[in-house]
Amino acid sequence: MQDFLSTQQPIAIASPLPRKSRQARVVWRNNVVTVGGDAPVRVQSMTNTDTVDAVETAIQVRQLAQAGSEMVRITVNTPEAAAAVPYIREQLDRMGEYVPLVGDFHYNGHRLLTEYPACAEALSKYRINPGNVGKGEKKDKQFGQMIEAAARYDKAVRIGVNWGSLDQELMARLMDENSRRAQPWDTRQVMFEALISSAVDSARLAESMGLNGDNIILSCKVSGVQDLISVYRALAQRCDYALHLGLTEAGMGTKGTVASAAALSVLLQEGIGDTIRVSLTPQPGEARTQEVVVASEILQALGLRVFVPSVTACPGCGRTTSTTFQELAKRIDDYLRGQMPLWRMKYPGVEAMKVAVMGCIVNGPGESKHANIGISLPGTGEAPAAPVYIDGEKALTLRGERIAEEFQTLVEDYVARTYGTTAAAPA
Ligand code: SF4
Repeated sequence: MQDFLSTQQPIAIASPLPRKSRQARVVWRNNVVTVGGDAPVRVQSMTNTDTVDAVETAIQVRQLAQAGSEMVRITVNTPEAAAAVPYIREQLDRMGEYVPLVGDFHYNGHRLLTEYPACAEALSKYRINPGNVGKGEKKDKQFGQMIEAAARYDKAVRIGVNWGSLDQELMARLMDENSRRAQPWDTRQVMFEALISSAVDSARLAESMGLNGDNIILSCKVSGVQDLISVYRALAQRCDYALHLGLTEAGMGTKGTVASAAALSVLLQEGIGDTIRVSLTPQPGEARTQEVVVASEILQALGLRVFVPSVTACPGCGRTTSTTFQELAKRIDDYLRGQMPLWRMKYPGVEAMKVAVMGCIVNGPGESKHANIGISLPGTGEAPAAPVYIDGEKALTLRGERIAEEFQTLVEDYVARTYGTTAAAPA
């Protein structure tokens, strides 16, 4: 082994590169959500309720916000949906939920924003897709009507291009020009160029129409991981607008989660992306809030944000033949997440807490010592005792049938003692 003291360079510590975007403000009442610049990378989500059902939509918006979504997008696709938006906002305000609402407009957004001023006012941000605001001469006029509404009501705008609804006139023109190149580009490269040009050119047009450029956020969504990385790297080089990042149509369950995490992590590590949405298709019976959980976990895993106390749990192996420790790890994880809406207000700083739930004494005490509070359950053949470590010191040993309940109580007491407003500030 090489002599340690003769090693010349310390190992570089990895961390995400700084972002260089401008900063948008998405505002409702006193709740100002900054996006870009030095703001934390934001989590956002979208409802899947019928917007016309104002009560159902308000309930889901609240659930998403309570799960940690800092902005929530709702579909505004019909006059009835536009008419429902102020009522959704009103319901949320009555519940004391001031999460900003983002309106998702396609095809008829210019009419809805003009004919339903209360809708335009109640939303905090408009999502405009340049691929379907109109064709030919109508395109710029209808796009302009939406920008005019945003400027009038001082709203942020996301110009959101999607490869599934890419401006076909632009794509046809670029394909035509490409055919005249000495060395034509690959069709996929032309498509990437069309996505980026559509977003950046639309943003510049919006600025020329009077919209504050700081309040423009761009996205260029595709559904392939490598495609998304290619497009966003180029997009970040071409402009300094804040960027909304997401893999479109990510899919369901493990596939959608892993694909989103893979794509977003690479880009976030490079300092690209100011707000993220994970477009998961909910599995039957799965809560819509799962997309918020995944988005938050991506940011937390990268060390960009801290949302909930983390539970370190070992995978288990032949030394743990019972499911007790898996059940305890899940119980504690669910418990911590479930407490966060209350704890966030009551116990500032609790989100940084680390809890360890380990299957046996091989790595259990070691991991427990690194956590704020940790437990090692007995492995097969080990004495039926579970040592608990608090702030690095062995505090007590739990035994018997009620280990799970007793450990949860210890966690609860630790939180109140350490993060309560009357508690001494944690070291
Ligand atoms: S801590 Fe024990 S139970 Fe868990 S993986 Fe390691 S050896 Fe297996």
